[in-house]
Amino acid sequence: VPDSADAVLDGLDPEQRTVATTLRGPVCVLAGAGTGKTRAITHRIAYGVRAGVYQPNTVLAVTFTARAAGEMRGRLRQLGAGGVQTRTFHAAALRQLQFFWPKAIGGEQPRLLERKHQLVAEAGARCRIRLERAELRDMLGEIEWAKVTQATPEDYPAVVAKSDRDAPRDPAETSRVYATYERLKRDRGLIDFEDVLLLTVGILTDRPDIADTIRRQYQHFTVDEYQDVSPLQQRLLQLWLGDRDSVCVVGDASQTIYSFTGATPDHLLNFRAQHPEATLVKLVRDYRSTPQVVHLANGLLAQAKGRAAEHRLELVSQRQPGPEPVFHEHADEPAEAEATAGRIKELLTPVAEGGPGVPASEIAVLYRVNAQSEIYEQALADAGVPYQLRGAERFFDRQEIQQAGLALRGASRAAGTDTSAAEGEGLAAEVGAVLASTGWTPEPPAGSGAARDRWESLRALVRLAEEFQRSRPDAVLADFVAELAERAAAQHAPTVEGVTLASFHTAKGLEWDAVFLVGLTDGMLPITHAKTPEQIEEERRLLYVGVTRARFHLCMSWALARSPGGRAGRRPSRFLDGLRPGSASDAARGRGGAGGVERGGAKGRKPRGPVPCRVCGRTLTEATELKLRRCVDCPSTMDEELYERMREWRLERAQELGRPAY
Ligand code: ATP
Ligand code: MG
Repeated sequence: VPDSADAVLDGLDPEQRTVATTLRGPVCVLAGAGTGKTRAITHRIAYGVRAGVYQPNTVLAVTFTARAAGEMRGRLRQLGAGGVQTRTFHAAALRQLQFFWPKAIGGEQPRLLERKHQLVAEAGARCRIRLERAELRDMLGEIEWAKVTQATPEDYPAVVAKSDRDAPRDPAETSRVYATYERLKRDRGLIDFEDVLLLTVGILTDRPDIADTIRRQYQHFTVDEYQDVSPLQQRLLQLWLGDRDSVCVVGDASQTIYSFTGATPDHLLNFRAQHPEATLVKLVRDYRSTPQVVHLANGLLAQAKGRAAEHRLELVSQRQPGPEPVFHEHADEPAEAEATAGRIKELLTPVAEGGPGVPASEIAVLYRVNAQSEIYEQALADAGVPYQLRGAERFFDRQEIQQAGLALRGASRAAGTDTSAAEGEGLAAEVGAVLASTGWTPEPPAGSGAARDRWESLRALVRLAEEFQRSRPDAVLADFVAELAERAAAQHAPTVEGVTLASFHTAKGLEWDAVFLVGLTDGMLPITHAKTPEQIEEERRLLYVGVTRARFHLCMSWALARSPGGRAGRRPSRFLDGLRPGSASDAARGRGGAGGVERGGAKGRKPRGPVPCRVCGRTLTEATELKLRRCVDCPSTMDEELYERMREWRLERAQELGRPAY
């Protein structure tokens, strides 16, 4: 914990300091990926608290995901500013809604609708409209969009006609299904995700007394990822603020990836116009990624079109040179997945065995749609690599963790009446035994998928018990149960060991040492159903988000056919044109190899600006060197070179974080 308010500002650059020390009035931070926006607002809150300007419990920090909220809370505690509310719009609104429900609405508390697509399908059936899979997805999207735009079923056709939105089907039909869906929901005492915000907005609008109470509670607001705020969330923020202006918003228009749900970067881009007195700060130094990754991200942005692109901010990497991003083409999807798993396995090889020793939690595989994950789960399971599917979900909210918690509480109560039974056994063994009674085994289940994923989170719980036992050898089960409750309240989740498998959408705001972007074919990115120029641009921004998640090693791949022997009719994503050195034939299957980059290198477009050798970092001048992107004397095997550099990188990171190298 920093010993003073000023010490909170250590480790911020001058612009970030401006953000952190401008505690009053509206503040808007416009900046690209990895420039430290999240860090700047976190330190701003901590500085405000430590300087005595903010009471911790009067600050509401809105984040985009629950995971981001948990991370920010942890960071604030480390900075000596515990007690600040960090929540998503949804979680903050739900809490207020539940609290004021008896006073504002009365009657039974509503339940959250879980299977939304089922209810929409049912509503469709009642309107005699059969919805096939893709149609159901479009219908869900339209209803969501209508709700966040605050268009009622009756308003919807007129509102959609006025917008620049391409309605996927006859608006009159959508309107009928929407109305039926709303009725079914009401009849069953259910509310959906959007209702939480709509009802809260309604209460705050109609009940000045309740609005007053909430405004007395929350006086200072920050909003991260503000480029993806929906009109409804924006309305809620305004209601929370009332006529006050203690708000700090940060965002990057180039990372707008939720406009299909009605989100728009307009609020971010127009913030200054709405608040002429606002302090506007731009950050351009990228602290996350190597110059090589940043170069690629800038190249991607340079191709972007449209409104967000007008506001693009060229990034400048602050890091030492790293390896070039790698591109791999594969014959078919299983080959791609297998090769990816193989590369990951090599990255995991411990330093003592000559590998780079990257921990699994520092590696991610990102894809466009969740359906793509299955083949990767299988390939990773086959290669014996641990993985976690739901990197973005709160650990203590996972169903298996809740069930385990119940079982542990039950066992601890039982032990209470029959004194701590497990004499002689260790606490961790005891926890293992309780979990075993719920079906958990110390060995991972065969195969992949949800079962394996659940197993990994439960194993994290056992590991936590082992750690707890080491720090408190005399602890009993009840102590561990209390520890869990405390951690759950603080959202202090243990690390679930495993490579993260996540969609581009859920990877937002996060970072890893090594990132694999997979399945990058035209048709997947941009996805087939993206048709309008705006939709295509949003797909490009998704790739930008994906690319900028990598701190050090970035690997992009695609497959020409779906299955072995299938028609090889696919082509790599059009967004990669001009970014990859050239199109290579099936790059060294199984082992990464130099193939993808090296073979194609000669055909590539001439890169702009000085080109560093991807082995030693020296500026290249000779034509052959430029083609190879390395000095002619430097070793040519991509993998060896990469691993050597990863070994150096871990030392650099360790020094930066002030902890032992992984
Ligand atoms: P995104 O747009 O992806 O959400 P961001 O702008 O929020 O990115 P952060 O996540 O805050 O960026 O920061 C990116 C990385 O850079 C983090 O690892 C952070 O700790 C580090 N970082 C940020 N600012 C600094 C700094 N001044 N010195 C050193 N490291 C920094
Ligand atoms: Mg961020």
